[in-house]
Amino acid sequence: MALIVQKFGGTSVGTVERIKQVAEKVKKFREAGDDLVVVLSAMSGETNRLIDLAKQISEQPVPRELDVIVSTGEQVTIALLAMALNDLGVPAVSYTGNQVRILTDSAHNKARILQIDDQKIREDLKAGRVVVVAGFQGVDENGSITTLGRGGSDTTGVALAAALKADECQIYTDVDGVYTTDPRVVSQAQRLDKITFEEMLEMASLGSKVLQIRAVEFAGKYNVPLRVLHSFQEGPGTLITIDEEESMEQPIISGIAFNRDEAKLTIRGVPDTPGVAFKILGPISAANIEVDMIVQNVSHDNTTDFTFTVHRNDYEKAQKVLQNTASEIGAREVIGDTKIAKVSIVGVGMRSHAGVASRMFEALALESINIQMISTSEIKVSVVIEEKYLELAVRALHTAFELDAPSRQGE
Ligand code: ADP
Ligand code: ASP
Ligand code: MG
Repeated sequence: MALIVQKFGGTSVGTVERIKQVAEKVKKFREAGDDLVVVLSAMSGETNRLIDLAKQISEQPVPRELDVIVSTGEQVTIALLAMALNDLGVPAVSYTGNQVRILTDSAHNKARILQIDDQKIREDLKAGRVVVVAGFQGVDENGSITTLGRGGSDTTGVALAAALKADECQIYTDVDGVYTTDPRVVSQAQRLDKITFEEMLEMASLGSKVLQIRAVEFAGKYNVPLRVLHSFQEGPGTLITIDEEESMEQPIISGIAFNRDEAKLTIRGVPDTPGVAFKILGPISAANIEVDMIVQNVSHDNTTDFTFTVHRNDYEKAQKVLQNTASEIGAREVIGDTKIAKVSIVGVGMRSHAGVASRMFEALALESINIQMISTSEIKVSVVIEEKYLELAVRALHTAFELDAPSRQGE
């Protein structure tokens, strides 16, 4: 008999019918003898609706109150699933994050889980009940409700699996696993049987929203066996593993991630003296703005251009800070661009293969796509390009790195 934590995402509980289907599925596992903890998201669209509602009252809602409202989405689905299970003759009980006591820090809207009290859950499991827990939320030491950031139910699932030492954490969603790239963008994308934690972490942090980054971090840290599966189709899904298989067959890159969430800022004609980067980025970091990619040009005329990217939500704030810096240090001008996208290739195979980056640049050049910025690490290469070329770039790279699914006859 296994202890399994199952997390179902927003579309999987998006309607009453789907919730009933989830209940049927849970019942089957239960009948097979497994102990089950089920973590749910809000119905799809609900979290956005709640955020919109808050914004109709206040342009910048107080973070604590925003958490009070957005956490209600999950409270609805857990109760509905627990009712559906009871109607099917499967004893079940639902808990909010606060009721379990998923203790988090007080960083509202992006809180981190500190500790989980597993006592109540263990007692329920012992008594034969399925435990249904609200994803995405916790409570801080003052008793205030907190939420874990968008996509945070994944993290609730993994954290519960770690706390309970579950045999597996299964993330059920609307695709049947982790693909070489978002299957909604590239129809030739292929499901991966396995991917390493390290690669999944890069994919998630570079924009593949199939798993929340913190969920992958947690699973890696506590060695939680993690699998992504389709909610309503049978199949093996994708296992996130620690081992890197030493096989000849291993592809050089495992996946392509992309995001449209960044914006680019350039400060031009900066007097090129030691400490320039600090003078420019110091005030940005003091304003709590995270910087991702950075490029400083070779100087001529004793001046230099300095470019960096920030999250699009921070763009206006960063622009203001940079304008101030520009007048203080006597730079020529500040320009910005929000119509950019970042495309990244990810794979542990890069460690043992040279020339991966140039192969990437060649594939983009063949499509006449201009590269604006580049950054690399041991297992990834990222480029910034014009947003309108994003899909073309991802498809071209998918083909260039031989990730396309073999086309079937008649397709
Ligand atoms: P849920 O509501 O179940 O949490 P999400 O929308 O958060 O679902 O995540 C699933 C979606 O992630 C898929 O519908 C797919 O479009 C997207 N996605 C992005 N990159 C990938 C990838 N590499 N593999 C699979 N899905 C991906
Ligand atoms: N409902 C939350 C969101 O939409 C959390 C989640 O679904 O994981 O972000
Ligand atoms: Mg999600």
